[in-house]
Amino acid sequence: MANVSIIVNNDLCNSCCECISACSSNSICIMINKVLGRPVPFVTDPSKCEGCDSCLKACPQAELAKQATTAT
Ligand code: SF4
Ligand code: SF4
Repeated sequence: MANVSIIVNNDLCNSCCECISACSSNSICIMINKVLGRPVPFVTDPSKCEGCDSCLKACPQAELAKQATTAT
């Protein structure tokens, strides 16, 4: 299921937190990433993710993630 995990997993998250309020199922929480030293979102229960893309539409980094995942 495509959601903000793709942003975080591609190390593109800038911690703006726009995705959190965009999720209609309240599936996104924010946690301090100890390696990065700043907060990043995570999907608390992937089974609740509806794949609605709202988080990705709200994310300013989504286009970069799309490019990263389609590059060969
Ligand atoms: S795809 Fe939709 S339901 Fe899933 S985390 Fe993003 S906003 Fe929430
Ligand atoms: S909207 Fe995108 S860049 Fe901002 S916190 Fe969420 S995943 Fe990170």
